Amino acid sequence: MIRLEGLGKTYQTGTVALEVLKGIDLHVKSGEYIAIMGPSGSGKSTLMNIIGCLDRPTVGEYHLNGQPVSAMDEVELAGVRNREIGFIFQHFHLLPRMTAQHNVELPLIYSGVTWQERRERALEALEKVGLSDRAHHRPAELSGGQQQRVAIARALVNRPRLLLADEPTGALDTASGKRVLDLFEQLHDEGRTVVVITHDPDVGERAQRQIRLRDGEIVADSAMEREGTS
Ligand code: ADP
Ligand code: MG
Repeated sequence: MIRLEGLGKTYQTGTVALEVLKGIDLHVKSGEYIAIMGPSGSGKSTLMNIIGCLDRPTVGEYHLNGQPVSAMDEVELAGVRNREIGFIFQHFHLLPRMTAQHNVELPLIYSGVTWQERRERALEALEKVGLSDRAHHRPAELSGGQQQRVAIARALVNRPRLLLADEPTGALDTASGKRVLDLFEQLHDEGRTVVVITHDPDVGERAQRQIRLRDGEIVADSAMEREGTS
């Protein structure tokens, strides 16, 4: 599903060039649940933004579902992001003036779905995350854990095959974080590909496969280790 080859990213700030990702080779199969781990500043969010087609690499190749992402223009990329990928962020990124239901409906507005179907699918997604009874609440009327579950419902509403989460439990207490991770496990069991970015070893442990980044390079991949010892 995800194939990165010789991928690199350099940020240019004025005259200063910062090489944040170096020679990343990574293959993720459909249906895998992987954690990308590493200390702060190691390039995790940069890598997630590239995998999520929110940013482009400076060098190297990225194929998503066999399609070369570098060959796509901005309109095609926006379509891929909307159809294929569900995003979950540390700070939820919900719109504060909208109810939970309307937040969840947003991706469907961009897809041109009728309002009846939007409502139906939003309520279905909220039910999946256990928040049917909070559909008409605004984010400020929900706990952090509930807000993150609304964000997960929003990420699911377009039925994407790939879920990308950047520090999804970073702003949550332990119990709410566990509930979010239980939900990821369920979504993985249903066949979705899940990529979680985290600096928290307990979050990483819940995935099937752990990749470790340090200074922009992959320094460990649990899948390779298993291969190496068998
Ligand atoms: P992580 O998510 O692992 O903490 P990031 O990918 O956010 O790491 O950042 C890696 C490095 O790239 C950091 O040194 C950060 O300051 C730098 N960086 C991130 N985004 C930008 C940007 N848009 N422009 C310049 N430097 C950036
Ligand atoms: Mg980060």
